[in-house]
Amino acid sequence: MSDAAADATEAPPAEAADEADDSEHSGPPLEVRNLRKLFGGIVAVDDASFTVEQGSLTGLIGPNGAGKSTTFNCITGALKPDGGTVRFQGEDITGMRPEQVANRGLVRTFQIARALPEMTVVENLMLAPQGQMGEKLWRSVLPAARDSVVTQERELRERVWETLEFFEIDHLAHERAGNLSGGQQKLLEMSRAMMTDPDMLLLDEPMAGVNPTLEDKLLERIHDLREDGYTFLLVEHDMDIIMENCERVIVMHQGSVLADDEPERVRSNEKVIEAYLGEDI
Ligand code: ADP
Ligand code: MG
Repeated sequence: MSDAAADATEAPPAEAADEADDSEHSGPPLEVRNLRKLFGGIVAVDDASFTVEQGSLTGLIGPNGAGKSTTFNCITGALKPDGGTVRFQGEDITGMRPEQVANRGLVRTFQIARALPEMTVVENLMLAPQGQMGEKLWRSVLPAARDSVVTQERELRERVWETLEFFEIDHLAHERAGNLSGGQQKLLEMSRAMMTDPDMLLLDEPMAGVNPTLEDKLLERIHDLREDGYTFLLVEHDMDIIMENCERVIVMHQGSVLADDEPERVRSNEKVIEAYLGEDI
């Protein structure tokens, strides 16, 4: 038997190769290089470079105005950067539109259209995939194009219920979204984000205004998802949450990355302490 034939017997079946498409990239899923964003004379993001490892829960912190939200906006397409590159799973996504970025599996909670307050929780989840993500969900939830509309609708409903149960808001399914508490709305927002079938989530202060019980629930769910292989980049001003939950912390200051290290080393980093002067860390 020739070498070529021997190789052929070891080649994965075509179907498996297709499935592996998304995960072909072996480096860190998110790579930000020399990112730069100006607002008039203000340099909001100043040559920021960092990576986020596959399956990690990485914190992004920094004093007010450090450039965290602008960085999120540049990564997820809400803003076009003035310089630098953003790569997701090996692909250059710099300057792509938000829906193109979301379709590739990179989703920002804040970016999901706000829940429609007059509609029920279930209705909000049924609608979440439309517009925001389109084809990616239809590929993952509804793999067979031959499926009838009825089957598709049933599968979408099943996914909605699984998601509601996962976030433990299924008892609120028929409640108007506008009637939910602040914390419940955050769980709804995360549910909506998950309906887009992301691989990585950027969370901008997801715990803000959430009571401690729901905060714990949200964190538990984030850890569960992380164990399932999802990757998280979390902006959160509560330093204890960052220190207790993230295995890596990136610190921004005046648009640049000041530190990128393990939580305990970040907390004792002199430059970080100085940047936060007067603030409690
Ligand atoms: P953070 O999220 O870390 O608090 P931001 O990214 O919101 O910081 O802001 C970084 C800097 O950019 C700040 O000086 C802020 O005032 C400025 N900035 C942010 N967004 C805009 C905007 N749309 N127009 C002008 N300046 C902005
Ligand atoms: Mg911000």
